[in-house]
Amino acid sequence: MARYPFLPQGSVFLKFVLEKNGITVEDLIEAPWLEEVRARGRIRLLESVMHKEGVDAATTIDLSSDLGKMTESLSFLYAMLIVCASFNERLLARWVEGEASRADQLFGMDKENFAILAKSYISDIKEIQNRGVATYWIPMSDFIELCPRISGNYWRLINRPVKNGWVCMNPGAGETSRQRTARLIKERIREDLTNSCVDRMNKMDDSFAELFLDPVERVTKLLSEQVKDEMPMTAAIREDWPPCFESAVAELSQGVNVNHTGRVFLASMSLAMSLTQEQTCGFFSNAPDYNADTTSYQINQIFERGYTPHGCAALKTSARCPVSPGDDRLCDQEWLTHPLKYLKAKQRRRFKDGGGVTIIEETK
Ligand code: SF4
Repeated sequence: MARYPFLPQGSVFLKFVLEKNGITVEDLIEAPWLEEVRARGRIRLLESVMHKEGVDAATTIDLSSDLGKMTESLSFLYAMLIVCASFNERLLARWVEGEASRADQLFGMDKENFAILAKSYISDIKEIQNRGVATYWIPMSDFIELCPRISGNYWRLINRPVKNGWVCMNPGAGETSRQRTARLIKERIREDLTNSCVDRMNKMDDSFAELFLDPVERVTKLLSEQVKDEMPMTAAIREDWPPCFESAVAELSQGVNVNHTGRVFLASMSLAMSLTQEQTCGFFSNAPDYNADTTSYQINQIFERGYTPHGCAALKTSARCPVSPGDDRLCDQEWLTHPLKYLKAKQRRRFKDGGGVTIIEETK
């Protein structure tokens, strides 16, 4: 439990650790003897912010000792409280991604406990041993629910062996069966962690959140700098646009009512691509419910708060990903988890081919 405090049963464990050691939340924030817990919590948080692709699964904490178990588990709680106290969706998404990636790596390595861990997130799992090598099978209902959020041919049901309602997670893309299954479970961890943090945020009052003012300020500043470094999108032209962005623009210009996720995505993506607020407002001018003042107010909010665009998984879940397997070779790649990666890949290819263009093309 100290290694995996994010598990659904983790909240009971964390409560137990706090009670057993006589620690209050105020102690967690300022008691000198808990400085190591806070330092480890800050590292967990910074790793998530700095390494968008996932954080290092290794920990220097000795988990065989009681002190080590307490430090590791409470550091998770401390980091989670900072994230919730920030009321910042972008920080939340980033931290959840870091923790979920870390869990994906750790689960993939945990031969002994893997089946138990998996059953915390999916309805069942079967392990078939063949000459000492385990292959996992999972219920089709779990696979069908989670696979649309992952790109790559491996994750299409038609490419998976299926028997009596069970889907075979055989090795693939350089990963063992366990690692492939852990990758799928990562989607549930992300969802579970996001829901529990949103719930905490909704319950958290301002006076409690203020206790975390210093660490929140530090980490949100770092996040803004990091996001700025990652997104030099000023040279985007229309051919670079990912299909999800292109379709949101096209649908709105044809008067189609794009859903809320699609609209927020369009505005935040425009921001990441360094389009102006005026250009972005222009995308909405044919929307069936268009109102110039409301549109410019909402876009201004998104620009001022520096929203990060949704990733592919969220867009797929909200029916804002228009491609099916085989429609677009880039979108079929397993590493393509975010529309900004699509944009960057297209830009890189264009510049390599000598077709560099450094202006933002007419957007309508
Ligand atoms: S796979 Fe990702 S980048 Fe491609 S269209 Fe769907 S959401 Fe956009």
